[in-house]
Amino acid sequence: MIPTVRGEEPKPCEGHSAVAINEDRILVIKKGATSDDCIWFLEVDTQYVREQKKKVGTEIVAWSRGFIGNAQKPVVISGPSGVGKGTLISLLMKEFPSLFGFSVSHTTRAPREMEKNGEHYHFTERSVMEKEIKDGKFLEYASVHGNLYGTSIEAVEVVSDAGKRCILDIDVQGAKSVRASSLEAIFIFIRPPSMKQLEERLRARGTETEDQIQKRLQNAEAEIKQGTSSGIFDHILYNDKLDECYKNLKERLGLDGITASNNQTAPREIDLPVDHSVSKVDNKILIKCGTPGSGKASENLIILDVSSLKGGAPGRTRGLDVYAIDSFSDGLNGNGCQCR
Ligand code: ADP
Ligand code: 5GP
Repeated sequence: MIPTVRGEEPKPCEGHSAVAINEDRILVIKKGATSDDCIWFLEVDTQYVREQKKKVGTEIVAWSRGFIGNAQKPVVISGPSGVGKGTLISLLMKEFPSLFGFSVSHTTRAPREMEKNGEHYHFTERSVMEKEIKDGKFLEYASVHGNLYGTSIEAVEVVSDAGKRCILDIDVQGAKSVRASSLEAIFIFIRPPSMKQLEERLRARGTETEDQIQKRLQNAEAEIKQGTSSGIFDHILYNDKLDECYKNLKERLGLDGITASNNQTAPREIDLPVDHSVSKVDNKILIKCGTPGSGKASENLIILDVSSLKGGAPGRTRGLDVYAIDSFSDGLNGNGCQCR
C-alpha cells in the first residue's frame, strides 16, 4: 500500500542514511545537504500520524524537518479589535528585533491601505485558505468579524527557525485552539479601560467603515468576557496608558534588564560530509564521518542526542542536541569514546 504523505517533504538529495529511532519515527540524514536541511524524521506512528489516519481513513506517513536546539515558547496576544495589540507588538519588535518575530497570519479580509502582503498578513482567497486548512496546514483558524483568519504551521516555524520567539496576534477562539494544541505558549489578553475608549481608539485608527466598527464593537463585549473568564490566558493586562501597559507586558515576558544586544540564541549548525555512516546506541545517533574502510587511523564522530525530541509533524522536530568528537580510534562500538 502506498501511504499518503503529510508534512513538508525533503527535497531530493545525493543519498541518505536512515536509522529507526523507535517504533514511531525514522531518522533520515541527507547526504550533501546544507546544515539546515540534512536532518529529517519520517513519522510512521506518532500521535499526529494516528490522528491523520483516523481523519483520512488511509495509511499515512509524515515528514518533519529536524532542528538542533529548542525554540522559546511563543507568545499569544489576544484582545478586542482596537485595544492596542498591534501597537504593543510593534513596540516589542522595535526594541527587541533579534529576539521576537511575528507570525504572519492568513486572512480573507481585504488589505488596509498601508498593509503589505506577506508582512502584515498573507491576504488570500477563501477557497484557497479552506483547501489549505483541509490539508492540515494550519495550527488554528477562526471566523472573525465575518472573515477567515488563521495561523499556518509554517508561519510559526519560520520564526523559530530564525532563533526568535514567535508572537501571535490572534482572537480568543484562535487562542483557545492553540491552548488545545501541542504548541506550548504564553497567553496574554489585553483589555481596554472601557468600551468608550475602545470605540474612540477604533475610530481614531480610521481603518474601518462605520459598519465594520459596529461589528467589531459588538464582538468586543463577548471577547472581553471570554478572555477574562475562560482560564485560557496566563496574564490579563489593561491597556490604559500605553507606556505602563508595555512595561507590564515586558515584565510578564521576563524581559526586565534585557537589552537588545544580549538577547538572541542563534540556532546551532551541523556540518556533515557526504561520506558518513550512521548507527544508534540508546538515545544517541553516532555519525562516523570519513570513508568507511579507508584504512585511516581515525575518523571524526558526530553524536546526535535524540533523548529530548519535541514537536514533530506537521511542524519541525526540535530538541536535538549535537556534539562532535575529533579523531576517535577505529573499532568503536558505542563504548569507549571520549568527548572533548
Ligand atoms: P489592535 O491591534 O488591537 O486592533 P491597534 O494597535 O491598531 O489595535 O490600536 C488601535 C488604535 O489605538 C491605534 O490608533 C493606536 O495608536 C491606539 N492606541 C493603542 N494603545 C493605546 C493607548 N494605550 N492609549 C491610546 N491609544 C492607544
Ligand atoms: P484585523 O482585521 O484588525 O487585523 O484583526 C481582526 C482580529 O483578527 C483581531 O482580533 C486579531 O487578533 C484576529 N486575528 C488576526 N490574525 C489571526 C489569526 O491568525 N487567527 C485568529 N484566530 N485570529 C486572528
